[in-house]
Amino acid sequence: MDVKRVLIVEDEKNIVDILRFNLQKEGYETLEAFDGVTGLQLALEENPDLILLDLMLPGMNGFEVCKTIRDKGKSTPVLIITAREAEQDKILGLDLGADDYITKPFSIRELMARIKANIRRVGMLSEPTEKEEALYLDFGRLVIDQGANLARKDGNDLELTQREFELLTYLASNQGKVFSRQELMEAVWNYEGYVGDVRAVDVAVRRLREKVEDNPARPRYIITRRGAGYLFQNDG
Ligand code: CA
Repeated sequence: MDVKRVLIVEDEKNIVDILRFNLQKEGYETLEAFDGVTGLQLALEENPDLILLDLMLPGMNGFEVCKTIRDKGKSTPVLIITAREAEQDKILGLDLGADDYITKPFSIRELMARIKANIRRVGMLSEPTEKEEALYLDFGRLVIDQGANLARKDGNDLELTQREFELLTYLASNQGKVFSRQELMEAVWNYEGYVGDVRAVDVAVRRLREKVEDNPARPRYIITRRGAGYLFQNDG
């Protein structure tokens, strides 16, 4: 079994110490950077399996680091570490391509679960899926080709992130069925028994609508059921 490597980008030394200790105890190797520029460099050169990224960093902040990693075409999972109550930070981070965030002060158990889930998700994507029949969903204007890992609307490829594609595929392959945010966290984000913050689902749905819907303010595909969750319908 290959050892997974986690890059810690955090300028607070005591937090780095706690993270390193717990990650190594769980069998991970760690790389550390105490500023944004070094963090970015290690992210690009060392290809870690996951990046833990603080936002407030000397030199280059976490947002810029995350955005640059994505601009360089790297899909390494990025888990943002953010201060409590900074709701805008979370949304902006997810918009810039982060996969997830965790709020300081965080519980080590919760953090380890998140790290594991995000690394496992990537592992499952790269494994061959011969057992699963590749799904081809044709909704007329909208087509989802799971074999090609591609969604198309009116003949044009949609530029979806992997997570957006998975979310769309999951909802669309269960057309008409309403899923709660918790259920989507478990099915698409792989968080087993998830009970925490489900804002990531709303952000992903909003971004997906911007790419899929004619008018994101009046969605015809990805529908909100107030107090229940989201469903896919083919009304485009
Ligand atoms: Ca900091």
